[in-house]
Amino acid sequence: PGKKVLIVYAHQEPKSFNGSLLKIAVEELTKQGCSVMVSDLYAMQFEPRATRNDIVGHLHNSEAFNYAVETWEAYKRGGLSKDLVEEQKKVQEADLLIFQFPLFWFSMPAILKGWMDRVLVQGFAYDLSKVYDGGLLQDKLSLFSFTTGGSKEKYAIRGDIRYLLWPMQHGIMHFCGVKVLEPHICYAPEHVSEENRKEMLAAWTQRLKTLWKEEPIDCSPEWYFK
Ligand code: FAD
Ligand code: ZN
Repeated sequence: PGKKVLIVYAHQEPKSFNGSLLKIAVEELTKQGCSVMVSDLYAMQFEPRATRNDIVGHLHNSEAFNYAVETWEAYKRGGLSKDLVEEQKKVQEADLLIFQFPLFWFSMPAILKGWMDRVLVQGFAYDLSKVYDGGLLQDKLSLFSFTTGGSKEKYAIRGDIRYLLWPMQHGIMHFCGVKVLEPHICYAPEHVSEENRKEMLAAWTQRLKTLWKEEPIDCSPEWYFK
């Protein structure tokens, strides 16, 4: 109770399975007394491209554009575009970040990747010497909740799905100092029975009930590749 949660949601259709997972999380966490913020990226028409437009006013070096340097400098002087500042404010306030999305090409949809690229700027999320356990977004938790097209059985044969989580959980969240909870994966909602879908939705509700008692995973190579 009293915890703040930001759900970054990337699906175009509210009636989708991802939409149902979002709805459940908002309802259950609100019921627990958490305050829930949602960034509905498609509804917001969130800009996924990392461009010069993200910097308001003069550039640090107008001769040769370097996105990482320019956003860092802009962050320091309060010169990032409004949409980024708003997202950073939500991240700053949140105790827990939930990312809800369908798996696209073994990764997240471009609009969500764009959120990572643009929101987690140097100076805000990390600094040259402040990364991983020293990252700037400490004392926060993250949880990747996603759906797949492929079945659990196929993933078991074709390669452990944990490999895919290395860039997202370790390369992004852990890099920024955010602790990582077990991912929540709903396999193949399009291809299973209605009963199975209902079970998967009930399992998400159930997990959320005891979420705050969970310990973060050991986000080391062993967790992904052992
Ligand atoms: P939906 O189709 O929205 O939902 C499935 C079914 O659940 C629908 O019939 C819906 O009506 C129903 N439903 C919704 N809410 C409820 C409810 N409350 N109760 C009961 N039923 C409900 N998959 C992979 O495995 N690996 C990949 O690399 C991959 N790459 C992709 C790349 C692209 C560009 C695209 C478009 C897809 C890719 N996929 C991949 C497939 C994708 O991950 C799945 O299509 C997606 O995860 C399914 O989730 P959804 O929310 O869109 O499902
Ligand atoms: Zn890690």
